[in-house]
Amino acid sequence: MNVPNTVILSPTRVAGALKCFRKHVLSEVLGQTPNDAHQPALDFGDMMHRAAGVFWLHGYDVAREYLIANFSTPFNEKHTPELAHKLLAVYASGAKLMPFGGDEWVIETLEQRLSCDVPFGTLTFQIDRLLRNTNTQQLALVDLKTASRTDARWERQWPRSLQMKLYSECVARHYGTPLSWLIIEGLDKTKGVLAYLSLPEVSAEKRAESWHAVEWVARHDSQLLDACRLPDGSIDADRLIDLALTQTPTNESECFTYGSQCDFLPLCDAEPSERIALLRAGYHYEQPKHLV
Ligand code: SF4
Repeated sequence: MNVPNTVILSPTRVAGALKCFRKHVLSEVLGQTPNDAHQPALDFGDMMHRAAGVFWLHGYDVAREYLIANFSTPFNEKHTPELAHKLLAVYASGAKLMPFGGDEWVIETLEQRLSCDVPFGTLTFQIDRLLRNTNTQQLALVDLKTASRTDARWERQWPRSLQMKLYSECVARHYGTPLSWLIIEGLDKTKGVLAYLSLPEVSAEKRAESWHAVEWVARHDSQLLDACRLPDGSIDADRLIDLALTQTPTNESECFTYGSQCDFLPLCDAEPSERIALLRAGYHYEQPKHLV
């Protein structure tokens, strides 16, 4: 098991840690995954992100070839290569480099990882598309989301999203200027349409507030790692598992969300003394990979 000895966070990880800290430690720090786990929607979203990146760099034909070469087996009955090709065609015919704010925009960076230092660790995420206005030097970030529906309810979540506030703050810190545009590009898997949403500007005060959330999670992750640190600086994974399963705070209102139960419910429902054995029998380590 490869437990990092420093704290590495992403906006999604921070949001997850604030929902249930135990789930965050088990899945994002310890990389524990149920032996029968499937993440078809996440894997499909990753695939479409990569295909969209290829599209902006090399055009539709090369993006199509990318899908043919890398996605031949369905992730499940819904997330198939046929759907991916259909959505790529929708994307190629409807996507606009900059859907709002005029034509004078060029790609500043594409599919690039941005990292910012935080007290006790690092916050990192992958930029889908960052644009720069050639006249005004303003920056616009476009974030692609694959979604089951791009309806009014889907739209409502984004202006308050911690992930979006942290994207704004990270770009402001890295480039020394706040974002002028923060745009969600929604690829609707059900209707096969592309929707664009321009978010209101995130104030400096709200960005600072979101940064406090990162620092809070980083500090608690760091305290946990320090409690398990060996003399050579590495982490005693067995000790960390024990602490995660018995001493981290839980949030029972998060055990059932989006119509499915948390992967770790059998552990939280068991007596504390039984949990390590259940973890060893039913879960395995997988490198946590969704650092968005
Ligand atoms: S089962 Fe509930 S309390 Fe336990 S880790 Fe999952 S969300 Fe948290």
